[in-house]
Amino acid sequence: MSSKFDVAVIGAGPGGYVAAIRAAQLGLKAALVEREFWGGVCLNVGCIPTKSLLHNAEIANTLKNKGRELGFSFENLQLDFSVAHNRSRQTSNRLVKGVQMLLRKNQVTTYEGSARLTDSNSVQIIGNDDSYTEIKADNIIIATGACPRSIPGVELDGNRVITYREAILADELPESIVIIGGGPIGVEFAYIWNSYGVNVTILEMMDRLLPLEDDEASRALARAYRKHKIDVRTGASVRSVVSEGDRVSVTYEMDDSSHEIEASAALVAIGFSPNVDQLGLEELGVTLTDRGRFITVDEEMRSSVPNIFAIGDVTGKLMLAHVASAMGMVAAEVIAGQKPEPIDYSMIPRCVYSHPQVSSFGLTEAEAEEAGLSFRVGKFPFMANGKALGIGERDGHVKVLVNQNDHIVGAHLVGPSVTELLPELSLAATAGLDIKDISRNVHAHPTLSEALLEAIHDAEGRSIHK
Ligand code: FAD
Repeated sequence: MSSKFDVAVIGAGPGGYVAAIRAAQLGLKAALVEREFWGGVCLNVGCIPTKSLLHNAEIANTLKNKGRELGFSFENLQLDFSVAHNRSRQTSNRLVKGVQMLLRKNQVTTYEGSARLTDSNSVQIIGNDDSYTEIKADNIIIATGACPRSIPGVELDGNRVITYREAILADELPESIVIIGGGPIGVEFAYIWNSYGVNVTILEMMDRLLPLEDDEASRALARAYRKHKIDVRTGASVRSVVSEGDRVSVTYEMDDSSHEIEASAALVAIGFSPNVDQLGLEELGVTLTDRGRFITVDEEMRSSVPNIFAIGDVTGKLMLAHVASAMGMVAAEVIAGQKPEPIDYSMIPRCVYSHPQVSSFGLTEAEAEEAGLSFRVGKFPFMANGKALGIGERDGHVKVLVNQNDHIVGAHLVGPSVTELLPELSLAATAGLDIKDISRNVHAHPTLSEALLEAIHDAEGRSIHK
């Protein structure tokens, strides 16, 4: 088989595999190189296995904490985390096989190994069996993702000082854990571990959990977590993590003084660095950002070298699987000569699968104020929604920010299944609908989605149930 391609994609995550399949669908001869994870971080050690574990955790939580409310009791409730772990691995494996099947079906040529660019049309692959292959391609898409960052001076030993990767792959639980970083990954693991009885402390440097979300969403989540007895400490800046025997000791600054906390493990979840080292990019003149060394791309996903594209986490845009896939579609279509719509990053949904869930798009209230925008807020609490009460999930709210033209410029949801509710609002916003259009759309009763409608009615000044 010839080793000359129209496009070679490096990295088979939700960015890379989608780009390769889309390119093949458009009649291009596509190759895809992956060194470890078909389906990327997302399918193997990220989005998918965490959501599987979170499902078990929610049930565990219900069994442990809601017996009295729902009227059931147990003599001796046993929670077997290893079963949750096995289920998460099965879910992941199933999807990985699905991706491999799709690649075969679309006749994408796959290579297993580590790729490196030797010039702007050549990719060298060192196989996992040490074999050497070189392929040629008119276009190259870099989709190599990112890896966890650590705190200066803190060694990630993979044993007691761990990243998401060890956390997902472990079939046993620590007795106690300090989670450094109260972003999406930190708060999702906090809920999983807490539900299984692990003593969890979150240390977040900023003044609130999920610092990029709307302030009210952060506060609602922190309230719920404190109810679950998760110890949330904000404004806590970690200075050192020392692992000794079977304990770790974490030193941090808070309220102008130094504190120390001990646990059986520490999860470092403070952010990511792009996987750009050893790809040969700088030698080819591919521009990286000054801060963070992410690959700079234009709206067609082209790097500073016109036939080299980059997509997904390696570009440091919103580091989410659906963003990587959307970028992959654009890159493939541009290479095939099409003119895809540019991605509007402000309309991208951001979802956190904590309990309660948090989902949002667009501006937060603080950002809208800072931008000097004229806007009003429509809000509705789940506490006043019949379905939410019926399922015993009344924490949280729906909040929409509406501009003077009646368009939604931001939506912030906290509560049950809000990750599934958000698209109605983001579709309205991207399609240029105004709140009257949503308002006219009668919502079934009783549903959680009525809370969206009520928030819109509130923005119109005519909420019935608030
Ligand atoms: P990746 O998925 O990281 O894939 C890159 C691939 O490139 C990897 O498989 C890697 O092995 C390969 N690679 C790297 N270098 C080379 C090389 N030189 N040669 C060959 N192959 C190489 N996002 C969401 O949208 N929703 C979620 O719920 C969510 N949950 C998450 C939970 C966790 C715990 C984590 C860690 C992340 C989560 N994310 C979530 C983020 C999501 O996983 C990433 O945004 C997404 O995987 C990025 O896709 P990508 O294709 O850019 O990179």
